[in-house]
Amino acid sequence: MASKINDLAESLHVKDFKLPVIEVKENSIDSVSTYIKDSSFKQLVIVADQITNKVAGEKLAERLKKDGLQFHLVILEPNKYGQVIADEETMIQLFSETPTTTDLLIAVGSGTIHDVVRFVGHKMNIPFISVPTAASVDGFTSKGAPLIFKGVKKTVQTTAPLAVFADLSILKNAPREMTAAGFGDILGKYTSLLDWEVSRLVGKEPYNELAAEITRDSLENCVRHVDKIANADTEGIQILVDALIESGLVMLLLDFSRPASGGEHHLSHWWEMDLLKKDKEQLLHGAKVGVATTIITALYKKFASEFDLDNELNLSDYYQPLKEHWKEIKKQIEALPDPEKLIALLQCVGGPSQTSELGISNDLVKESLNTAHNLRDRCTGLLLINQLKKEEITYPISNLVFK
Ligand SMILES: [Zn+2]
Repeated sequence: MASKINDLAESLHVKDFKLPVIEVKENSIDSVSTYIKDSSFKQLVIVADQITNKVAGEKLAERLKKDGLQFHLVILEPNKYGQVIADEETMIQLFSETPTTTDLLIAVGSGTIHDVVRFVGHKMNIPFISVPTAASVDGFTSKGAPLIFKGVKKTVQTTAPLAVFADLSILKNAPREMTAAGFGDILGKYTSLLDWEVSRLVGKEPYNELAAEITRDSLENCVRHVDKIANADTEGIQILVDALIESGLVMLLLDFSRPASGGEHHLSHWWEMDLLKKDKEQLLHGAKVGVATTIITALYKKFASEFDLDNELNLSDYYQPLKEHWKEIKKQIEALPDPEKLIALLQCVGGPSQTSELGISNDLVKESLNTAHNLRDRCTGLLLINQLKKEEITYPISNLVFK
């Protein structure tokens, strides 16, 4: 992994890039104290929640104590649904419970705990290291922290961890739905990579071949080994974690999330904002992304089969780049796996594959298909279809009507 990522850093002319220390193996939690001693950190704060403290925090604490290291423990409080959310309350809890003399934060948990730690650490100028407790998301190694301010989600650029200790003996025992969510986040790369290509060809946005290749290789490796991931055996979880870490490192180096986030993430964000607005229980990020990927794929395939660009002589000059590259884009859409295949993959790992399983209504899906492209200023297939549509996109998706 390291050589590909270093090659990418070189190709992007990223100066002074220092790859985080990454250890993905069984019992890697035991390496944390050696790392801390070698780096001369002294004032440590472990950040976990009740559950992640039980599955990893206690073991880590025991080891640190044995090695003579002092630490302070912060257990983040859950909300009324028993979930730890990256909102103001949680951030303030960590700010107030972190001694100002702290020189290292240790995030022990899933994506949300990492987001809170990376934000607070960034603001207090304290570095952090990562001990993931589930292979649930691709954000461990990136800089972006999706946070909730006054009920609205906003991604803030913060800092990446100095090191990641992904202990396979912990990760393979994580709840199945969390591993399935990690796989769902990876599956989203089918459409995010396509959207990135579309943004390059049509939107003239920055693109990098090697970054796309690394992300695609991780995706294909996970799909090839879906059975092993479904069984949560050591090799399967290692493949998934490597893919999630690599995807995060690619985003870190590019300083944007394009290869890993396209129209499928826009749908997922739209649904999440709706749950926040209604003060409902949150869903796992990757669970939403996986299901959204099946919907975006169905939409793009319908678009490619029904949109007759060759006879669209009235299209304005604005669409000239689309006309020019339509053959190539169409070919890439056709190369996407069928939605049925994606559904089968999600089912194989035991994750949700339908919006009904997520409790997301057809009306909300329809609203997101017609509106979520406005969330970010990004050229995606979803944006183009919305620009070209004559009538609202329906859900379930029936015939699309174009101008
Ligand atoms: Zn994601």
